[in-house]
Amino acid sequence: MPHRYHAAMRDLLFDNVFIRELPADPDHAPGPRQVHGALYSAVAPTPVAAPRLIAFSREMAAALGLSEADVAAPAFAQVFAGNRLLPGMQPYATNYGGHQFGHWAGQLGDGRAIALGEAIGSDGVRWELQLKGAGPTPYSRGADGRAVLRSSVREFLCSEAMHHLGVPTTRALCLIGTGEAVVRDLLYDGHPRAEPGAIVCRAAPSFIRFGHFELPAARGDRALLAQLVDHTIAQHFPALTGPAGTRRADWFAEVCARTARLIAQWMRVGFVHGVMNTDNLSILGLTIDYGPYGWIDDYDPDWTPNITDRQHRRYRFGQQPAVAYWNLTRLAQALSGLFESAEPLQAGLDRYVEVYAAAERATIAGKLGLAELRDGDAELMQAFQDWMRVAQVDMTLAFRALAELDPQAPSTQPFEAAHYDAVARERGGARLRDWLARYAARLATDAQSPAQRRQLLDASNPRYVLRNYLAQQAIDRAEAGDTDGIAELLEVMRRPYEDQPGREAYAARRPDWARDRPGCSMLSCSS
Ligand code: AMP
Ligand code: MG
Repeated sequence: MPHRYHAAMRDLLFDNVFIRELPADPDHAPGPRQVHGALYSAVAPTPVAAPRLIAFSREMAAALGLSEADVAAPAFAQVFAGNRLLPGMQPYATNYGGHQFGHWAGQLGDGRAIALGEAIGSDGVRWELQLKGAGPTPYSRGADGRAVLRSSVREFLCSEAMHHLGVPTTRALCLIGTGEAVVRDLLYDGHPRAEPGAIVCRAAPSFIRFGHFELPAARGDRALLAQLVDHTIAQHFPALTGPAGTRRADWFAEVCARTARLIAQWMRVGFVHGVMNTDNLSILGLTIDYGPYGWIDDYDPDWTPNITDRQHRRYRFGQQPAVAYWNLTRLAQALSGLFESAEPLQAGLDRYVEVYAAAERATIAGKLGLAELRDGDAELMQAFQDWMRVAQVDMTLAFRALAELDPQAPSTQPFEAAHYDAVARERGGARLRDWLARYAARLATDAQSPAQRRQLLDASNPRYVLRNYLAQQAIDRAEAGDTDGIAELLEVMRRPYEDQPGREAYAARRPDWARDRPGCSMLSCSS
């Protein structure tokens, strides 16, 4: 991180369409409240004691037209801690509801996220900038509106790691330490402790969630719902230029299609969101709200990192495609008041199934390195997954190893480093040998050259993902005062598909110490 002294940072150009076009909460008083007939409340961030820049994303800074000197300016940390507003910033918190763990939860809203406005980036792209952890809002429901360092490090790193993996996501500009303590009960076991506080500046074209539509619908406010739908289409789906009569239907189908592509990407890279409540699903099909998320180590479709969800495992890895459909059904229900019949909404949901199936086929072809998908290839993938599960094999390492196989003489050697357990490995031995024979036979009929296949495999199977223990190691170091591990980890995650000589350790399977450690194998919503 540069430490040159620059007194100023350049201003950004803001054009705050969301608050200009949509109705505001007339009440300006502090304190939690139910907000009716409005999509946001004006609210300023609460200043913090000692803002300090911990990390930033150079790609995101560049997208906003900010130089390294701008980022290094003391003003930068002040602005993105919420202590100072730039000209054009008009802070607000938005109003949404949601279904949480299958149940309607009523009004939720931005309880600790405060939008600063919509900045026009260097190439004309609009970025809503949002501070997560900037203090209480009317939607805080009695909570403090703050965020701890550990969860902020996780959100900052994963936003950018997902972007570099090619997965649609909200982004992160920077991570600021507040110099203030935040009290949390990490495991909800009656042992609260003071932790360092932090703020992440998130960026996305919009943070509108399914829950933004559900809340006015649940309250019978059809006019507000229609206004939000038409605003969303005009601002964020400008390609939908069909006749007004079908535009909303086309839009819903597009939301379904984007959600399908998003979930297929999560399944490709082994990402488990952990809290797929409808307030945590983006209307733009972006990964949003990095809480108790996790990455698959040993392949287990039933795994969830979220200890709050331990019992029912509603949001387990293998369930994500079905949960997204359930969430889209809640959105369809919310929108139904705007449609004369259910038919266009059902057509949208059908589109989800169709697009997901196509995306899944593309994922299978890519991950197995096949030029085209044929009959039997889905079963070939299923058999590989069955082996990974039975033999307790690391998902990322196993897929990456496919590029090392010699189809003339396939051996189990490339998979050696992917095993977690000697007994499970023995149990899966025959399965693997059978599978390799099938795979080699299939490759013999594939049209690609070995070089082409390797390229496809390496572009589909990341070498580096933000393994839970890697993030935790960076957090442990940061909590002990050494924040360099965050930038070091981000540097690796910037090129996840390339072998990076000297950085092999970042690709290693989860070490034994991390198997049952909080933060590595299980996480809570306490953040
Ligand atoms: P999440 O589980 O982070 O998606 O949050 C669910 C809801 O709780 C959202 O409305 C959040 O704004 C709110 N929330 C979570 N943590 C806090 C906090 N520390 N202060 C205020 N609101 C919070
Ligand atoms: Mg949320």
